Amino acid sequence: EDIRVYEFADKVRQPLSEVIKILFNLGMMVTKNDFLGKDEIEILASEFGVEVTTIDPKDAFNYEDSYEEDNEDSADLEERPPVITIMGHVDHGKTSLLDAIRNAKVAHGEAGGITQHIGAYSVEQHGKLITFLDTPGHEAFSSMRARGAQLTDIIVIVVAADDGVKPQTRESVKHAQEAKVPVIVAINKMDKPGANPDMVKAQMAELGLNPVDWGGDVEFVGVSAKAMTGIDELLEAILLQAEIMELKANPNNMAKAVVVESTLEKGRGPVATVIVQNGTLKIGDNIVCGSAYGRVRALISDRKAQLQKIGPSETAVVVGLSDVPPSGEILMVMESDKEAREFAQKRYEYDRHRELSHSTKTTLDELSSLIAEGRLKALKVVLKTDVHGSLEAIRSALAELRNEEVKVEVISSGVGGITENDVALVNNSENCMLVGFNVRPTGNVNAMAKQMGIKINTYSIIYQLIDDVTAMLTGMMAPQF
Ligand code: GDP
Repeated sequence: EDIRVYEFADKVRQPLSEVIKILFNLGMMVTKNDFLGKDEIEILASEFGVEVTTIDPKDAFNYEDSYEEDNEDSADLEERPPVITIMGHVDHGKTSLLDAIRNAKVAHGEAGGITQHIGAYSVEQHGKLITFLDTPGHEAFSSMRARGAQLTDIIVIVVAADDGVKPQTRESVKHAQEAKVPVIVAINKMDKPGANPDMVKAQMAELGLNPVDWGGDVEFVGVSAKAMTGIDELLEAILLQAEIMELKANPNNMAKAVVVESTLEKGRGPVATVIVQNGTLKIGDNIVCGSAYGRVRALISDRKAQLQKIGPSETAVVVGLSDVPPSGEILMVMESDKEAREFAQKRYEYDRHRELSHSTKTTLDELSSLIAEGRLKALKVVLKTDVHGSLEAIRSALAELRNEEVKVEVISSGVGGITENDVALVNNSENCMLVGFNVRPTGNVNAMAKQMGIKINTYSIIYQLIDDVTAMLTGMMAPQF
């Protein structure tokens, strides 16, 4: 059972401020509504000399951690296909290119036929598979990254040959660089009379993506999604890049996969398109996926073929989950139905706790409207510190000190001694506190402050500073009856 800071204080019959202080002392910023972790509870328990038994759902829910691949024998590893995300500026042809690639190639030797959009698909080039995320744009990529699922091996950035680099092109480049994912540039709309691939190369080179034929290391491929030209060359470039990366996985392990899309389907119930990261997913496998669980009843390809299993980097729609999982969620195979069910239950409880915890925190929007309405009072702070590091640390610690009624607003901050300017600033503001960390007033500042009746608060221990500011905030709160 999770426990909040104030609940813990209640249980061990200690003042809340004492509990918070001990945690501050250890460098942990908490407010009374935050949940305590297992480690924190243990430290507090020993400080107060009380016995506690902890059952931490966080320990149990994280089934991903139980996945064994680190100690996998390298002899078990086999080459796996690359997973590709297509990004680029709106209207530069991401969707058209995804369609063109899919229509040009048939994967798995499956009979052609009507394809359905399931969020991902694979194509075959010279007997090798390539899997594409079929949701253009950044959202899918970002939401997966946010959940820690690094699914994409290579990013193809589409740039229209007649339009060149645009804001979302730059954004795509930034995404790729931040995620350290290699890039291939597809110069699209080469069929257009105004096509100018050299302009695209020059503009991309400016962003640090130097074309191979200019002596750099990024492949640029001219394509036309409309005229269906350059598709083979693009796929070749992808396979070449993949080869350099030596992408490997163990197809004989139990499967670990990532959800790329999901929905509730009439007749089938919850369905989720997954891409396998490691192992092989088979019909009949017991699975857990966030708070959903079940047994794989069917695996359906984007060409509506019923598959028996899918290996690393392959994709299919999974039928058989108890609930619709969010995209980016990890799906894992468990030894038994019981195990899958238990993990799902624990995750469900954990998610519920987290929701409760978040709902007690006021969102930024709510905060600004509270200030506008005059219901939220702000304690202004002028802050000076010795070094930049402590400035940032204290600023963020102060930002945490807020509730529905009061908050801290640092109106000025900087590195260096407390000056006459700082004192004047405090003098001209209501509800304002002058705070120095490891710094002293310079020159005549003390005399000036004294004359104006302004207190200079200096500290050399962060938690004492936080304590005092907290006390000020508490004083500003309306008495509760
Ligand atoms: P997205 O917003 O990046 O997904 O771009 P779309 O795939 O929707 O394409 C935007 C527009 O460009 C559509 O009108 C397409 O028909 C057109 N288009 C896409 N690729 C090509 C191409 O290779 N040549 C030409 N001439 N037009 C294209």
